[in-house]
Amino acid sequence: MKKSQFERIDSFIAPYRVTRGKGFRLKDIDPGDTAHLKSEDKAEAKEMLARGVEWLTEQQDKLYAQDHWAVLLVFQAMDAAGKDGTIKHVTSGINPQGCTVTSFKQPSSEELDHDYLWRYMRNVPARGQIGIFNRSYYEELLVVKVHQELLARQKMHPSLVTKKIWDERYEDIANYEKYLVRNGVLVLKFFLHVSKAEQKRRFMERLDNPDKNWKFSAADVAERQHWSAYQEAYEEAIRNTASKAAPWYVVPADNKWFTRLVVAAAVVDAMAGLKLHYPVVSPAKRKELAAARKRLEAE
Ligand code: ATP
Ligand code: MG
Repeated sequence: MKKSQFERIDSFIAPYRVTRGKGFRLKDIDPGDTAHLKSEDKAEAKEMLARGVEWLTEQQDKLYAQDHWAVLLVFQAMDAAGKDGTIKHVTSGINPQGCTVTSFKQPSSEELDHDYLWRYMRNVPARGQIGIFNRSYYEELLVVKVHQELLARQKMHPSLVTKKIWDERYEDIANYEKYLVRNGVLVLKFFLHVSKAEQKRRFMERLDNPDKNWKFSAADVAERQHWSAYQEAYEEAIRNTASKAAPWYVVPADNKWFTRLVVAAAVVDAMAGLKLHYPVVSPAKRKELAAARKRLEAE
């Protein structure tokens, strides 16, 4: 990628990247924002997305070949914000052998028998791999905070469940991410920021369109009643866990085409920073290759 291209992408996503949580306010980012792009530019946006996906495909090949780095993409959002579609688009060109997507639902009884990060740790991508978390350990600061009865199910000794528990978890998670980064895992966190009005529109569409009925869940409408508690929990989580090493991207999510473009651009931008390249062939290896060529030619 040329330097000027990189700078363009970097400035495109800069408004949505949070590297310092202190003072962060969710209301400073408009879910309906589409930067300088208008809906007439959708076709252009699609083309840019396609180029981003192509570039990611090349980068993934190098990531895999080099086997030094891993990439962890964390997706969090309210229901119907477009996590699934965004993941589908961004990974559309990726070699399935180099990528895993893990969806985290309510924990099983086996998972509840362990420390809360256990199930997430087991799914962190290996070197050379891209791992996508469709929901993540952030649920421990979101749904579990909004519905504290879920915390009671985690079987912790009461002496450990104090007023400080959320601060402790912010700290645990920030430290865990720091640990991953220090081990060569690129950690990028996306909050797809949809408005309450747009969520309602999408729920209605799921009710109206028979092909989308399967996506509708009455539980999602119940969760919507806790909208402001969730927004607060997201804001607090981002404030306490955004860092230069493991940034949050608060992505406007009322327009799906724009959400996908920002996410792809953010991944492209961050992976460019790894300066990936194919492994350099050592002199010994070059000798081996030459010998193999001779043998093949002699056949
Ligand atoms: P979709 O609805 O698009 O299929 P989803 O991610 O909403 O995707 P669901 O099966 O609807 O999947 O919901 C998963 C549920 O599991 C969410 O309500 C989420 O809050 C919950 N969940 C995830 N992690 C935890 C956790 N650690 N503790 C409790 N609940 C959790
Ligand atoms: Mg759901």
